[in-house]
Amino acid sequence: MQTYHFTKIIATLGPSSYSYEKIKSLVKRGVNVFRINFSHGSHEYHKQAIEWVRQVEKELESIIGVIGDLQGPKFRLGPVEGERIFYKAGDKVTLLSDGKIGTREALIFPHVKFFNKIKAGDKILIDDGKMTLEVIQAEKTSLETKVLTDGYLASGKGVNLPHIKIMASSLTNKDRIDLQAALSMGVDYIALSFVQSSQDLKEARTFIKSVKGQAALIAKLEKPAAIENLDDIIDHSDAVIIARGDLGVEIPCEEVPILQRKIIQKCRKKGVPVVVATQMMESMVTSARPTRAEASDVATAVYEGADAVMLSAESASGDHPLEAVDTMRRIIMSVERDPYLHKAYATERPDTQPNDEDAISLAVCQIAETLNIAAIASFTEGGGASKRVARQRPLAPILGITPYLHISRQLSLVWGVLPVYAKNTITSLEDIIIPACKAAIKGNLAQKGDKIVVTAGMPFGKPGPTNLLRLVRLNGSSNKEKIKKHEKMRFCCKK
Ligand code: PGA
Ligand code: MN
Repeated sequence: MQTYHFTKIIATLGPSSYSYEKIKSLVKRGVNVFRINFSHGSHEYHKQAIEWVRQVEKELESIIGVIGDLQGPKFRLGPVEGERIFYKAGDKVTLLSDGKIGTREALIFPHVKFFNKIKAGDKILIDDGKMTLEVIQAEKTSLETKVLTDGYLASGKGVNLPHIKIMASSLTNKDRIDLQAALSMGVDYIALSFVQSSQDLKEARTFIKSVKGQAALIAKLEKPAAIENLDDIIDHSDAVIIARGDLGVEIPCEEVPILQRKIIQKCRKKGVPVVVATQMMESMVTSARPTRAEASDVATAVYEGADAVMLSAESASGDHPLEAVDTMRRIIMSVERDPYLHKAYATERPDTQPNDEDAISLAVCQIAETLNIAAIASFTEGGGASKRVARQRPLAPILGITPYLHISRQLSLVWGVLPVYAKNTITSLEDIIIPACKAAIKGNLAQKGDKIVVTAGMPFGKPGPTNLLRLVRLNGSSNKEKIKKHEKMRFCCKK
């Protein structure tokens, strides 16, 4: 069984977490969703990882989401003589679109397609922005540049071209191959890197549909163009990741915290799940404890209302993947015990014109504040109804009950939602209430005698909006030990 926390944890899988046992430990410590990074590793490698996740899911009787993250148009330097060369500010270096090996005078940048988009005065950032080159003269196959900072240029280092809208589509040929493979491995989400406009999402969605895939789409926000088209991109996404790694290179890093807050606010208003990612616990790659600043960064994401926080190198290639998840969960749960949190959430409640479903979601949250409700059971076919409840950030946990396994796994990313997969056909309210009560007791969220509030759409078996709200008292059995241990998961805002 997983530990319940409202704000979800995503962990990237990699060599440090690559075994059945490690994946199981990570889930026990609080991971809700795993990210498979298609920038590294073979398809066989990823397939094995996903098989382990599914086995763990079964063994721990929990629901775990899997994100297949596509590399997107990430540029890299070609091989460099002696692996790396030291440059001083003011040095000149030419970038060639072709060649075997880079020398002091000329380095290889093997992306000829984009040379005609680059002009004199443009900045080329290398190695997460540690090195900057300014273009002096641009030709079809060569770029004459000036080095602006002292440092090394090395083989295979990542290259960012901010403010240059270089590609027609963010889906590369490699991405298409990886996307198809990821879908056949049964991932629940596909994350698109370096999204520039809603067109990128439409293209990926068409592709997913054409192969009858069921994965939902995540836009990774890491380009200035994505920020310019923010509303449109969020409207076409099932979730977004604030990819602060590349974003902080493409735009000045002092702008990232402001953008983070604005994006979270926007997503919450639109009811689109939002993830804060990259360098959250970076020092834990080598240290068993985070810096105080990192603890604060995770806490800030929770206070701002993020649905999930993500670990990258910390869980994929770091020395302390288990400790990183443990620490992250403890920070999350500590903030979730802070009475101030509910006030912080309330100030960001959606201000759009509510429809019938919103009215029910709001009423449910109101009931959770008025009565001592143990959980909100939200029946949902496609996940939308549970997301509507979640965006209000209610006081009580949400049980997202759905008859579709892939939807339950997608809900594992959503704030506050404990996904419940109800296999049987729903023909009556009982078919929702029974699995809801069982899940609430099993998840240690409720005990006999507690009340839960149930929402659903009637008539059952037909797609339609949520139109029913019902209070139920639990009469299921619960063992004594559980009752003793039982501590209701609610924010401490009660007077
Ligand atoms: P990446 O994306 O880890 O795939 O680069 C996240 C980021 O850029 O922050
Ligand atoms: Mn990135």
